[in-house]
Amino acid sequence: MPIRELNGIAAWQSELLLEAGINHGFTCRGGGVSRGAYASLSMSPRRGDDPADVRRNEEILCRRAGLDLGRLTSTAQEHTDVVEVITADRVGMGISRPWDHGVDGIVTLLPGTPLLAYAADCVPILLWAGDIGAAAAVHSGWRGTEARIAEKAVKKLTELGARPQSILAAIGPCIGPCCYEVGGDVALRFPESCRTAKDGGKYMLDLPKANRLMLEDMGLGGVDASAPCTMCRNDLFFSHRGQGGKSGTLAAFIQI
Ligand SMILES: [Zn+2]
Repeated sequence: MPIRELNGIAAWQSELLLEAGINHGFTCRGGGVSRGAYASLSMSPRRGDDPADVRRNEEILCRRAGLDLGRLTSTAQEHTDVVEVITADRVGMGISRPWDHGVDGIVTLLPGTPLLAYAADCVPILLWAGDIGAAAAVHSGWRGTEARIAEKAVKKLTELGARPQSILAAIGPCIGPCCYEVGGDVALRFPESCRTAKDGGKYMLDLPKANRLMLEDMGLGGVDASAPCTMCRNDLFFSHRGQGGKSGTLAAFIQI
């Protein structure tokens, strides 16, 4: 499993994006300053953690991973299907500006601008369009997956001029079909190949697969869906379900 040490913190990295030379990762739990259920590298202030601790964790991540703290820009984790392009006037969105901006996918062509998406069981996705030099970060829970936000992020990249076959995708650590039990009200919104029926009207839902199929259908140059399940590997990653609904949040980061 490609968990790598980044000067004192650990992150899962995609071989696909590493081969392309892209600075990216999905953070693990250790190396930060948050306490209790948030211990210790909790990256989002929206889940009850102390904002000062999260700010300190942002500094730690940026120093360890070589990201520009002053230009950190993030999604809102609001289960929308909205994807927007980060232009110079929007750098800092979500970090130094209000959180409630209703955007769950961000795309940029600006070098040195770290994009963050957050997850704690939901599906974090990073995209790299090598031909135009654009990056994207996406938060895709079941609502975002149903609304096809990953597909919308790819469309945003192609609108900017990228060819689908030049785009690489990394689906990060999220809750897998081994652990994600849902009712038919949720499961039946997804393709049959992404769910397994259980007794009592319940299903095991495979959200990473639903996102992978969506991305592969668009003809991407590569889709890496090899990341571990956050609930099985709650020792490494925050898991909303694995921690009884109270946990910190991992950050998916990418910087051109
Ligand atoms: Zn699992």
